[in-house]
Amino acid sequence: MQLENVTKRYPGTREAAVDDFSMTVPAGKIVVFVGPSGCGKTTTMRMINRLIEPTSGRITIGGEDALKLNADTLRRRVGYAIQQAGLFPHFTVAQNIGVVPGLLGWDKKRVDSRVEEMMDLVGLDPADYYHRYPRQLSGGQQQRVGVARALAADPPVLLMDEPFGAVDPITRGNLQDELLRLQTELKKTIVFVTHDFDEAVKLGDKIAVLGNQSTILQYDTPDAILANPANDTVAGFVGAGASLKQLTLLRVRDVEITPAPVTATVGESPAQIKQKMADAKVSFALILDQRNRPIRWVHIRELGTATSLASAGRPVGDSVSLQSTLQDALEAILTEGGNAVVTGSRGEYVGTIDIKTVTDTIQQLREEHADDHNGGVTA
Ligand code: ADP
Ligand code: MG
Repeated sequence: MQLENVTKRYPGTREAAVDDFSMTVPAGKIVVFVGPSGCGKTTTMRMINRLIEPTSGRITIGGEDALKLNADTLRRRVGYAIQQAGLFPHFTVAQNIGVVPGLLGWDKKRVDSRVEEMMDLVGLDPADYYHRYPRQLSGGQQQRVGVARALAADPPVLLMDEPFGAVDPITRGNLQDELLRLQTELKKTIVFVTHDFDEAVKLGDKIAVLGNQSTILQYDTPDAILANPANDTVAGFVGAGASLKQLTLLRVRDVEITPAPVTATVGESPAQIKQKMADAKVSFALILDQRNRPIRWVHIRELGTATSLASAGRPVGDSVSLQSTLQDALEAILTEGGNAVVTGSRGEYVGTIDIKTVTDTIQQLREEHADDHNGGVTA
């Protein structure tokens, strides 16, 4: 696939969003675009499947002029997966995955069997998930559906715009591993956008480090870029792992602490708590002792047979204080599985901190870091 002198100027803007971009994307390889927010990654990518019309330039896919292909041919050639999966909320998993084959006029039987094949491919059991709606899936499962949908019409080219940007680090790692596994079988030509350099290194056969207006600062293998960053901006990106170290400089008190959805005191009856949880539509509650100290987590399913809250569910493991670093909080969250309890100076319950708060903070630090470096070049 080739992009030649591609430029996009949005109406009413002074600077081009993408300025004279030229690149050859090798067939069957993963090319990762990495660069700061607003540098033009999405615009560049969406010109490939013509969700955005280039102002000028040429794009060829398999030697054919992409700008002359009709919409159906483009859909067959180019799959597209985006952040938060972009699923249709009122469609089931199966309907979401079958969208493009449906648009291409496949008959129902062929669509159904393709949907099942795709669900197996991305590790979602059709028996469990076929008829579910996106809101009944975890973030990671939604991303799997997004990938399955992008692959459904078996396009040779796959565009992925920060597809794993909205999930926690562990799920994200798993999804990355699976993409690599899939790719060894499928050998698609993939353009993958991220602003996470670590993700780029892990996934890319080649990485394009982009600056403002999609200027290519360096386009090479991950090894070559790590060994020889072309300039300070690229070097800044390579060192962006520094943002993780900043987790040790931030404290729990600096970030958002959320109340547990339902709390209960150990003396209350299990039936009462079950009702409170049902009313609040939550599946977990935190049990506090008589002195307001967190002692147990309990799942709504564990309350049916429980005789006392003192023994229901499981004990609270690692908790953190307002003075703990975010690094400590992250560890506690990972051991506790999703969120950790925050306690005050006398061990009393204050709230909880969840994985999303920490990942959002990391992301924010990364963006600030990237922006700092970007400023130097554009000045
Ligand atoms: P990235 O994906 O790297 O964050 P984008 O491609 O979304 O960057 O945006 C590149 C630039 O184009 C930004 O300055 C953005 O504000 C601008 N831009 C994006 N979409 C539009 C639009 N529809 N109209 C005007 N400007 C836009
Ligand atoms: Mg973008």
